[in-house]
Amino acid sequence: MTKQPVNRRDFLQRSAAAASLTILPAWVPQASAKAPLAGSQVISVHRMKLGSFEVTTMLDGYIDIPPAVLQADPALVKSLLTAGGWPESPMRLPVNTFLVNTGDKLVLLDAGGAKMLGPTAGRLPQCLAAAGITPAQIDEIYITHMHGDHLHGTVAPDGSALFPHAILRIAKDDMDYWGNPEVEAKAPDNQKGRFIPAKRAMAAYGDRIKPFKLGEELTPGIQSVEAVGHTPGHSCYLVQSGSARLLAIGDTLHVAPVQFPRPDITVAFDWDQDKARNTRLGIFDRVVKESIPIAAVHLPFPGIGLLRKKGTDYVFDPAPWQLF
Ligand SMILES: [Zn+2]
Repeated sequence: MTKQPVNRRDFLQRSAAAASLTILPAWVPQASAKAPLAGSQVISVHRMKLGSFEVTTMLDGYIDIPPAVLQADPALVKSLLTAGGWPESPMRLPVNTFLVNTGDKLVLLDAGGAKMLGPTAGRLPQCLAAAGITPAQIDEIYITHMHGDHLHGTVAPDGSALFPHAILRIAKDDMDYWGNPEVEAKAPDNQKGRFIPAKRAMAAYGDRIKPFKLGEELTPGIQSVEAVGHTPGHSCYLVQSGSARLLAIGDTLHVAPVQFPRPDITVAFDWDQDKARNTRLGIFDRVVKESIPIAAVHLPFPGIGLLRKKGTDYVFDPAPWQLF
């Protein structure tokens, strides 16, 4: 049979005629784009495979801080923020937490800030629910340091432990500082509030807090990496499964558009400015040289990707999305 060429006009006319003969039954629902506005962000949870492990990032929320905390010429800070597409003020820092399932254990790396730092954080419990995990399932929590936006999420509003079975691991050097009444007594009045998260966590977890020595392996596949400077016992965590690695960097980085081009710039709440600067430079250098992806608390959700060097700047390439 030979095919007849179809004239385009004939085709359109026949199609239109056919369409006009199609009568939709009355019960076919009519599509409508109209829906009430949600007025709030959806709960943000992201999961990736790391070797045989799974890493789930949960966005606890954000905190706003003034650019004046950056220890640099305000005009320079302003120009770096503008170049990064950020407003001049405030600087909005996301707060991510990371849950590692090693297959044997559920380990939470930092716990967000609860409502300690205002209403814009404290979504960790909803994130866990969205990820299908209950707080009672968490085996261990590794804290990078005892500041509120990392530690306070371990404590429920009534002061009890939010994670009823978890062991809390904190570097001894941080415990010796933030948990020491003599250090607190010597702190200026406007700094005393920064000891509250440590006190509440210590009251809630008691002897379920197990201090560790910086650099220790805390469970097979997760090792502390000394990163002192932001606080006296600041610890990063190297997560490794087979040849796949990920470095949870805690507060080695606060303000991406400033500290990627200028990693020498510190923040006012670094405990030791020189150590904090040198630690950041050392860690940035290592992850670039060894191609280790980072998981950053204060990078835009989910905060996981590779750093590379472009001239003197560091550039962050977010990890590709995994669908599995
Ligand atoms: Zn922080």
